[in-house]
Amino acid sequence: MYQPQIGDALELLDTPSMLVDLTLMEANIASMMQRLQARKVHVRPHLKTVKSPALARKLLAAGAIGGCVAKVSEAEVMADAGIEDLLITTEIIGQPKLARLVSLIQKHPALKVVVDSLAGAQALHQILAEARLEINVLLDLNVGQNRCGVNPGADARTLAHHIGTLSQLHLIGVQGYEGHLQHIHNPEERAQRCRQAMQILVETATQLRTDGFPIDIVTTGGTGTAEICAEVDGVTEVQPGSFIFMDTDYHHALGSSYANALTILSTVISRPTPTRAVVDAGLKSLSTDSGMPELKGQDDIAYHPGGDEHGILTSTDNATVPLEIGDRLEFIPSHIDTTINLHDYYYAHRNGILEAIWPVATRGKVQ
Ligand code: PLP
Ligand code: MN
Repeated sequence: MYQPQIGDALELLDTPSMLVDLTLMEANIASMMQRLQARKVHVRPHLKTVKSPALARKLLAAGAIGGCVAKVSEAEVMADAGIEDLLITTEIIGQPKLARLVSLIQKHPALKVVVDSLAGAQALHQILAEARLEINVLLDLNVGQNRCGVNPGADARTLAHHIGTLSQLHLIGVQGYEGHLQHIHNPEERAQRCRQAMQILVETATQLRTDGFPIDIVTTGGTGTAEICAEVDGVTEVQPGSFIFMDTDYHHALGSSYANALTILSTVISRPTPTRAVVDAGLKSLSTDSGMPELKGQDDIAYHPGGDEHGILTSTDNATVPLEIGDRLEFIPSHIDTTINLHDYYYAHRNGILEAIWPVATRGKVQ
């Protein structure tokens, strides 16, 4: 039976396998924590990247105050594994989800959620009233991403006042995520546009406090903006996720602030012509929604998917591809979140020796 063990050399792993270089991952965690703690903001990493309670615990041990999750089904796994201070950052709509949320907060009352509509707030209030439960909520604000989030100004105030009339909901914060700014390459432009978004967020928080709401949490930021957000007075916490492993999309935008710590190990299974090699990692192993993965250490070889199970490698100048059947190669994902979601396990190593095997416990938890 195939069962990799702690202490094994990476050569014993079958492919494709998802590898974590622990030295690089630990440096990424330490670096983010150091930069943000100097700014006196709390760090609530977005756990939709790591999808693993074991890794969430590492982030908590490094100083995170809790975690974000995107969905109720992720919260179920994280909370049952002992990660109690969770914020679900996506609106919870529909009876099946609301019923799951009620079961969850019976066991884990520290759970917080966001609301961005009267209808959403009302439905949440009603199911909680029936169950005689209460919950802390954050107003989700549109700070320019134009995804979810109530518009700032009158709409935000109206919604806050409506929430104020609902006995089961306690409005304790504001979330404003500037997802549209994370990957801006020019650092000055990213910082300037981020500060504008933060002004909308912080002004809304101030307005709601003036209206009598105890706004204790002002939460925002991702890997591309966390340090900028952290410098803004009034931001209380940031939510970066991808920094722990990085990906090529973020690496191109941010440079070398954080290292690419996760790779997909794969094997050359065919070399039909001197200019083409084929590996065993296709769309089911490496996501391509943010561009092509890159071959670690060999930027003159280009990857493109050859379907679900294959990847095709060609030389960027149409020359011979210097690879042999059986060669084992590491690819750096272009988008970390969607790639991790394809794998069952992390194989974490230090200098090529397996040190931990972590299940991707919230893999596929999209509900
Ligand atoms: N917060 C919210 C609401 C998000 O949707 C995301 C990612 O999409 C993040 C934080 C974390 O961003 P990143 O993984 O880019 O650091
Ligand atoms: Mn992402």
